[in-house]
Amino acid sequence: MQGQIRKALSGFYYVYSNGETYQTRGRGNFRKRKISPLVGDFVEFESSNQTDGYVLDILPRRNMLVRPNVSNVDQGIIIMSVVEPNFSENLLDRFLVTLENEGISAVIYLTKLDLLNNEGKDKFQQIKRDYQAIGYPVILADDNSLEQLIALFPNHLSVFMGQSGAGKSTLLNAISPELSLATDEISESLGRGKHTTRHVELHPINNGLVADTPGFSSIDFLTIEPVDLPKMFPEFVAQSPNCKFRECRHLHEPSCAVKEALEKGQILQSRYDNYLQFLEEVENRKPVYQKKKRGN
Ligand code: ZN
Repeated sequence: MQGQIRKALSGFYYVYSNGETYQTRGRGNFRKRKISPLVGDFVEFESSNQTDGYVLDILPRRNMLVRPNVSNVDQGIIIMSVVEPNFSENLLDRFLVTLENEGISAVIYLTKLDLLNNEGKDKFQQIKRDYQAIGYPVILADDNSLEQLIALFPNHLSVFMGQSGAGKSTLLNAISPELSLATDEISESLGRGKHTTRHVELHPINNGLVADTPGFSSIDFLTIEPVDLPKMFPEFVAQSPNCKFRECRHLHEPSCAVKEALEKGQILQSRYDNYLQFLEEVENRKPVYQKKKRGN
C-alpha cells in the first residue's frame, strides 16, 4: 500500500492512506541505511490491521526541512511581528533563504500592525511592496488577512514558521483550535528533551495539510554552500545573467549587474547586506552538520 506519514511519535509512524490512518513502524534496515522516515514522506507500507504495520520504503522526497523535520513541503508561511519583538529583516531573510534552498515557496505574514501609528504602518506597506517586487506574497494582519491565509491551504502542504513571540499561536488558534493545541504541547515540552520536540504532525485544514513549528529567534544555515548562496536571492538571480562573470558572487567583481542594481536602488540594501553576512557565515561554518544529520 502507499500513503503519507502525517505524524511521527515515540517510534511510530502514522500513515494516512485512502481515508484511514495506520500505525506503523520503520523497517529495521532503515537504520542500517541511515535513513529515517519523516512526516510528509510518501511511503510504501504493509499492514494486516491498523495498528501493526511496517513502512517498507520511502518514495523520493521533493525537499526536506530540518526544523521541523518535514518533507515534501509546498509552502512555508513565515510569521513575523512588526513590533514586540521588533521586525527583523535579517531573520526574515534567513527564513526566505532556508526555503529557497529547498525549493519551497514562501509567504510572509506580518502581525501586530495594530500596535503601530500611521507612520509605522506606511513603513510596512513599503516593506510589503519591496518583498512582493522580489516575488514573495506578503499578507499584513488585518480584518480579512485570515481568509487570505486559509485560501492558500488547498492542495498544499504548508508549514508555519516564525519568530518567537510573533503571535503565531494566536494566529493558529484562530485558524484551528486543534492545531493550536498541538503547538502548545510542543512548546511546553521543549525543555524536556528531544523526544517530544520530534512530535510533528500534519493537520488537514481547508483541503490542505498544515504543520506548525516552534518559534525561532535565529536560524543557522546548515546545508547551504557558499557558491549556492547567491542563487537563494531571486532578485540577484534575475540580474546575474548580466554580470560579466558567470559565477559572479556580486562582491568585488567588475561589471556586476547586481551591484549596479543595488546602486540604482533596484535591490534593497538590507537584502544585500544580509547576503554579505550570510555568505560570511556559510564560509566560516564548521562542517558538523552531516554527522549530526546521520545520527538522527
Ligand atoms: Zn554580479
